[in-house]
Amino acid sequence: MKLAARVEQVPQSVTLAISAKAKAMKAEGLDVLNFSVGEPDFDTPQHIVAAAKKALDEGKTRYGPAAGEPKLRELIARSLTQEVGINYSAENIIVTNGGKHSLSELMMAIIEAGDEVIIPSPYWLSYPEMVKLADGTPVIVPTDAATEYKITPELLRQAITPKTKLFVLNSPSNPTGMVYTPDELKALAQVVVESGILVVSDEIYSQILYDGAQHLSIAATHPEVHKQTLISSGFAKSFAMTGWRLGYLAGDKTIIGAMTRIQSHSTSNVCTFAQYGAIAALEGPLDCVETMRQAFAERRKVMYELLNAIPGISCVKPYGAFYMYVNIGKIGLGSVDFCNALLEEKQMATVPGLAFGTDDHIRLSYATSLKNIETGLKRLEEFVEGRL
Ligand code: PMP
Repeated sequence: MKLAARVEQVPQSVTLAISAKAKAMKAEGLDVLNFSVGEPDFDTPQHIVAAAKKALDEGKTRYGPAAGEPKLRELIARSLTQEVGINYSAENIIVTNGGKHSLSELMMAIIEAGDEVIIPSPYWLSYPEMVKLADGTPVIVPTDAATEYKITPELLRQAITPKTKLFVLNSPSNPTGMVYTPDELKALAQVVVESGILVVSDEIYSQILYDGAQHLSIAATHPEVHKQTLISSGFAKSFAMTGWRLGYLAGDKTIIGAMTRIQSHSTSNVCTFAQYGAIAALEGPLDCVETMRQAFAERRKVMYELLNAIPGISCVKPYGAFYMYVNIGKIGLGSVDFCNALLEEKQMATVPGLAFGTDDHIRLSYATSLKNIETGLKRLEEFVEGRL
């Protein structure tokens, strides 16, 4: 079977093998602790579930407009207008099957062969693959703990060439949990405006912040930059709605129109009754978001203290999302070998940093119980101790 060249260049996910192994071990009855998940461990809040059930009962079961239910687009536009301070209207919004779909559809709409897309590493693992699937060229810009894994204006400027079309920014970040400060965003926005490139700001973790960190969209940091900014977000993380597949992209209406054309010939509208769940999510009450954030905050505190007490590994304190990105460079194992051995010897599933572009790290998710965190971190300590 000859497959299309575009798919041949996309590798199998390095996380897949580990999660399959963890599942198999669990099925055998082993006590596997899972720190590899990228989703909240909470159920979707009841009022959101109820709204979708009501929509089903009311017959909201038919095709809808490709770009999304008008009311949902309005609500998203209104909340962004408040948050960013720039006027968004419904025609600046497309509702998609998740943040992942927003980003991949955006790439399909604006990237063509020869276009370069700047992606700071560590990066969320799907960004480079999406660019390749759209025939573009990912340009990876390595960052490290010295700048809290954030790209600096100098690094961005150096990476820009006449072929650069897009810069991918993710704050709060998966996998590092880092949050860009307003000054850092302002400085990056200056480079974006001067160079005329587009920026996609993946803000899917914008509600999950700690210790007073504030979310600011790069779109709000410079009077001109919003014209070049696309905001990608969704309901999965802040409202515990991962399986609903609900996201959106906001920005220039020509780009939104192009994405809508693609969507109309590929997935059509997002599940109609699911969109009524999203409407309820935005209409509130919003205390469910805060309750989940507080639970994450407590787990973050415990995990960070326990991690920092383990000699030989280190972690920059995260201020958002629900991940810790741990440097294992002193242990002398590549990240895939490290994660495999940790799973086999200690029944602890984590994600190798290789998946995010840095092989001397592993990612731990704290979307799990405090008890699991306490037990798991003891296991990690024993594992590391035996190897120093
Ligand atoms: N962006 C980032 C940084 C993510 O971590 C995720 C989910 N893992 C997504 C986008 C996509 O989220 P979804 O498609 O579930 O909305």
